[in-house]
Amino acid sequence: MLNVPSQSFPAPSSQQRVSSEGRSKVPLKPGRSLMDWIRMTKSGKDLTGLKGRLIEVTEEELKKHNKKDDCWICIRGCVYNVSPYMEYHPGGEDELMRAAGSDGTDLFDQVHRWVNYESMLKECLIGRMAVKPTVPKDYHEEKKILNGMLPKSQVTDTLAKEGPISPSYDWFQTASLVTIVIYTKQKDLKLDSVIVDHQYDSFRAETIIKDYSYLIHIELSHEIQEDFSVRVIQNVGKIEIALKKKENTSWECLGRPLENHNSFVPKKDAGLYYRKCQLISKEDVTHDTKLFCLMLPPGTHLQVPTGQHVYLKLTITGTEIVKPYTPVSDSLLPEFKEPGFPDNRYIYFLIKIYPAGLFTPELDQLQIGDLVSVSSPEGSFKIPQELEDLFLLAAGTGFTPMVKILNYALINMSSLRKVKLMFFNKTEDDIIWRSQLEKLAFNDKRFDVEFVLSAPTSEWKGKKEHISPGLLSEFLKRSSDKSRVLICICGPTPFTEQGIRILHDLNFSKDEIHSFTA
Ligand code: FAD
Ligand code: NAP
Repeated sequence: MLNVPSQSFPAPSSQQRVSSEGRSKVPLKPGRSLMDWIRMTKSGKDLTGLKGRLIEVTEEELKKHNKKDDCWICIRGCVYNVSPYMEYHPGGEDELMRAAGSDGTDLFDQVHRWVNYESMLKECLIGRMAVKPTVPKDYHEEKKILNGMLPKSQVTDTLAKEGPISPSYDWFQTASLVTIVIYTKQKDLKLDSVIVDHQYDSFRAETIIKDYSYLIHIELSHEIQEDFSVRVIQNVGKIEIALKKKENTSWECLGRPLENHNSFVPKKDAGLYYRKCQLISKEDVTHDTKLFCLMLPPGTHLQVPTGQHVYLKLTITGTEIVKPYTPVSDSLLPEFKEPGFPDNRYIYFLIKIYPAGLFTPELDQLQIGDLVSVSSPEGSFKIPQELEDLFLLAAGTGFTPMVKILNYALINMSSLRKVKLMFFNKTEDDIIWRSQLEKLAFNDKRFDVEFVLSAPTSEWKGKKEHISPGLLSEFLKRSSDKSRVLICICGPTPFTEQGIRILHDLNFSKDEIHSFTA
């Protein structure tokens, strides 16, 4: 029997990205929801036909299992019998069949972003692909690692030739401090480009440079205190992480390299790292939407860039479920904050609870003090620096990315003449932070908000409709003919898709539109 290691989600090198293309779902038959699948996997039914045995699968064998009722797929070296899963697959049978009898890793990475396949398909595991033995790359390097020494900076050869220049690192010490210095050779780095996690024996510092990830991952040779500081020296592209020694002794080496230490790989191949955060508060915002506040562990430095999301992970009836959420600031009104001095210990989320949903009812059940796993940030949004007009089109919780964008734009973008939000909801009761938005529009003359409702009460005096060409052409007026414009759109997928079509028809260019899609 093969010994298949249990892997964390997402597995190292898995691609956990929400692409901008979106993905169509097919209607599932009744009784074929994700929850139904979880129940099926717990039923004790033999889903592989192998009675729990794991086998080693050759390429020839894999190829034979290419029919709907006998469909094996290999993902990252593990082979699954996906036939029992066909009817439960949100992307439909045809999508699964594209990888039938073959290695579906690339296809999986393109579309199954947050599906925790190791957990979801564990009862369908046939075994591992038979692999040819490989020779260690560098015997001397292996030996150094075993001896507990750090090899001099090196970069994995998976780096694409056209990628950014490889970073390197070094370290130095004083009596009380050990400072790790990362030389990124990039000048536009911000503090949110560095994510540090120090837990137990592992010290991780991940630096995001364009679409690449540079990882320092070591077991430190000595103990350090809980708090550390991270500094980015922008003009030279240098990052300094200053660790406080627990004892003022001299360190002979920094520590022992751990998995993927000193690697520089495309971000999509780096996998997502999760840390456990504590639920600090949960407040009602509307009848179905709550503001959740999570506290990062003390050994973590993480700031979620504007327009990016993270994944939250919970174990639901024994299966790890992961869903994306977009952090917000705790309020919309910049006057309550000290600009440039964000409180980095807390992450806030506005989350709508769907009573029939899989994840949000579980999230809603959490008690203050409970732990939720939070991933590192993902997303492709970048706000252009020189903009005159910023238009935000949001429906329901599609408002969440707009919160930080609004905050950022109104505080930092002096070129802006106009920021307009059109916020689509069903009823008056569904509008998130209505009074804050109205107050902001009152206080900041550059900002304007318009609420559009699809099913308001009879008292509603505002617009009652859905997104439409007439509505958008009236709303999206440039402040001048040549003004630089950005339109952000987010909401239910059909809403966003329709909005994009209308925007193209109204002659806005691709570069002027950013859609937040799943
Ligand atoms: P689901 O189980 O997905 O169900 C949602 C609804 O669909 C329920 O009403 C359910 O009854 C219905 N449903 C489920 N399956 C079916 C079916 N087969 N047929 C018919 N109806 C069905 N949400 C937020 O609230 N805040 C955020 O900040 C946020 N950020 C996001 C960021 C990104 C990048 C993306 C892609 C999504 C974001 N979301 C956000 C949405 C979030 O990820 C979840 O989709 C949402 O919370 C619903 O999860 P759930 O498991 O509770 O519901
Ligand atoms: P909702 O309450 O169902 O809908 C909000 C408004 O949008 C309502 O007025 C609704 O009209 C309208 N609408 C819905 N579907 C439409 C369509 N096909 N065409 C035109 N208008 C439509 O919204 P929600 O439950 O909060 O859902 C928010 C969505 O945003 C979720 O799907 C979530 O995944 C997504 N989201 C994405 C991100 C991201 O970054 N990608 C971030 C946050 C949220 P009706 O009353 O007629 O339904």
